[in-house]
Amino acid sequence: MSLPQGIKRHAIDGRDRLATRGEPVYGEPVQGEWRAWDPRRSKLGAMLEKGMDLGLPDEPTVLYLGAASGTTVGHVADFAGPTYAVEFAPRPVRDLLPVAEDRGNLFPLLKDARKPATYAHVVESDVDAVIQDVATRGQADVALRNRAFLADDGRLLAAIKARSEDVTREPETVFSEVVDRLETEYEVLETERLEPYHDDHLAVVARPQV
Ligand code: SAM
Repeated sequence: MSLPQGIKRHAIDGRDRLATRGEPVYGEPVQGEWRAWDPRRSKLGAMLEKGMDLGLPDEPTVLYLGAASGTTVGHVADFAGPTYAVEFAPRPVRDLLPVAEDRGNLFPLLKDARKPATYAHVVESDVDAVIQDVATRGQADVALRNRAFLADDGRLLAAIKARSEDVTREPETVFSEVVDRLETEYEVLETERLEPYHDDHLAVVARPQV
């Protein structure tokens, strides 16, 4: 699998690891300018580690939903172009701010991903990727509501957490319902469970139906 530009496998601490070039964010091991991307702490990192084809161009424009304190979106901003990071909880956004200070292309937005109209005036249209990791009920809905930001050949890269939808149901049942719902407006290109890095998560790569 070829990695998107700006991500490479690098020997850090004697191990071959995914890495991006930038200021450290979460105490990850570093080697020179390169910092290890821990797939156990990042669903997008796990998607790369599993060899999924993310379909990203060089320096993609990204809308990231569920940024938390920046563990993953910090890596994304290391290789991407403009990166809009939506997070609705004030506390993680406080920790995200210094991550953005080190990265001139990372724009934190204290917003609710279920209400894209509240940030549509800030985020440019035709982004290359919507990356979603909101771990909340209604994950398919969030992806559908944010579809309008995507370029025709853009990619939805979503991590769906089964337990956030319904703790009592089998993950596979939840996943097939979420995928069915996504398929009303997206063409699903690839899905993969994220074990052993993340239990009961399904990664989805999709593009908008045009
Ligand atoms: N993606 C992060 C990373 O890898 O660094 C971890 C994200 S964590 C699993 C899920 C985050 O989504 C939480 O910080 C939560 O506050 C946020 N979130 C959940 N629902 C949201 C919504 N509707 N709008 C914005 N953020 C949301």
